[in-house]
Amino acid sequence: NKIIEAPIVIIGSGYGGAVSALRLCEAGKKVVLLEMGLNWEKSRIPFSNLLKPGKSSAWLKKKSIAPFMNIFSLTPFTGTLDRLDFDHINIWVGRGVGGGSLVNGGMAVTPKESYFKEVFPQLDAEKFYHHYFPLVHEELKVNIIDEEFLKDCPYYKFTRVGEEEAHQAGFKTMRVPNVYDFKYMEKEFRNEVPRSALNTEVIYGNNHGKNSLDKTYLKKALETGNLEILDLHRVDDIKLNDDKTYSVNVQQTDTSGALIADKIFHCKKLILAAGTMGTLQLLLRSNAVNGLPLHEGIGKNWGNNGNFMTGRNWVKPLSGGTGAKQSTIPVGGIDNWDDKEHPFFTEIAPLPMGMDVATALYLLINRVDKKGEVTYDTINRSLKLNWDESHTVKMKENAKYFVRKMNKANGGTRSHFLFNNGFGADICYHPLGGCVLGETTNEYGKLKEHENLYVLDGSLIPGTIGVNPFVTITAIAEYCIENLIKGSEFA
Ligand code: FAD
Repeated sequence: NKIIEAPIVIIGSGYGGAVSALRLCEAGKKVVLLEMGLNWEKSRIPFSNLLKPGKSSAWLKKKSIAPFMNIFSLTPFTGTLDRLDFDHINIWVGRGVGGGSLVNGGMAVTPKESYFKEVFPQLDAEKFYHHYFPLVHEELKVNIIDEEFLKDCPYYKFTRVGEEEAHQAGFKTMRVPNVYDFKYMEKEFRNEVPRSALNTEVIYGNNHGKNSLDKTYLKKALETGNLEILDLHRVDDIKLNDDKTYSVNVQQTDTSGALIADKIFHCKKLILAAGTMGTLQLLLRSNAVNGLPLHEGIGKNWGNNGNFMTGRNWVKPLSGGTGAKQSTIPVGGIDNWDDKEHPFFTEIAPLPMGMDVATALYLLINRVDKKGEVTYDTINRSLKLNWDESHTVKMKENAKYFVRKMNKANGGTRSHFLFNNGFGADICYHPLGGCVLGETTNEYGKLKEHENLYVLDGSLIPGTIGVNPFVTITAIAEYCIENLIKGSEFA
């Protein structure tokens, strides 16, 4: 196997990886970033939209893997969206240079300060709300839809109907910021530029309009000249050497997933930013196969961020439902977090199916009362997740309460069209935790039992943050890497 020397290696190019890369490169460090997915920008292969799933739609699968309506057969390709299936929960993740930012809805939500303090009592909330969150908003190019455009645009009928109905039922709504460039969307609407959000592009990638990480943090990091991104490089496991350096075992593949080369990267400093599930897989597998030392808390304190999907049918059928044309970018939310009995936040989600299905889709985010645990199954060589219906009892109660109240005020039924019994308890977009900050790591993400190994991604957040998580993941990564650099960890 070829051994490649690299002083600093980062695994994964999502939020945590991109922030770490930029700040280290700015500090003059040479960084190698290993990403198992494709560099889509470099490949020049266009992303496909929801109505015609193609190459970008699924990670090495024979069939598309959208949460609903998968009738499309595919030739396996290293697509942007992957789904990890466990007994009681399916977890969707992004693959490619930019990680989850390629496939997500771009909702850039800052957590409620009171909940942030509850989840991270040890952090200086003042500093986060006055420095890290604003910094992250600027770097990620967060913006807000113009109310006039929203009011008239036929592609946002689903949001207007959703908000009207929520108000009718006595719920409070909120405008949700996004990284999609709304000025670009206005031009799309006027047919001045190619369409993306208005052409059902989102979970298989956006060809235009969305400020994913390849257009923000990673672009800036590359401009320093200090970053090398190696795509289609999948890390199998890592090994701690006697001199406290690391050997990273890598398989380079082609776009059909076939092996091109085995490589070993030898590094002094290693940052794991492979996303919650990716980082846990690397740590637990490396412990099983190479005896990598692990703190006992690794894998514990895992949660689905309270993700719980539900839907309603026959939403205003007489007035034309939620609209045949829908933008893929959500801009509305219902904020019921302060209700002591039923605290939840829900996104008023688009369902762009090319026809009016008179159905409303909601992704609820709840508290996580009972945490799960991730372990490694040495026989099947895969992750195991201790998570079942007992973990989502309260989430289901909240969803029932929400749908009942909406239906009572507005008419409609539970959506059996979307989900078996009207509820999608097994759909998770926000896996968090398992390497909790300050428990399995020091206060800045350096793993206990290690001197040169760091975790900087969603796994630092203990299973819940109350809103869509990437703004928080990015802010925590900024905080950690700033302090690690200041503390001469990378000197
Ligand atoms: P990720 O962004 O997951 O990045 C990890 C990267 O590491 C990936 O590119 C992966 O390919 C790579 N990797 C993993 N294992 C290996 C390995 N062994 N070797 C090499 N590379 C590896 N959040 C929001 O805040 N707002 C939203 O609107 C929103 N919508 C979403 C919609 C969908 C469909 C999905 C799936 C997620 C959504 N999320 C949203 C969640 C958000 O995208 C994630 O929380 C976020 O991307 C996690 O960031 P991260 O840095 O932890 O890792």
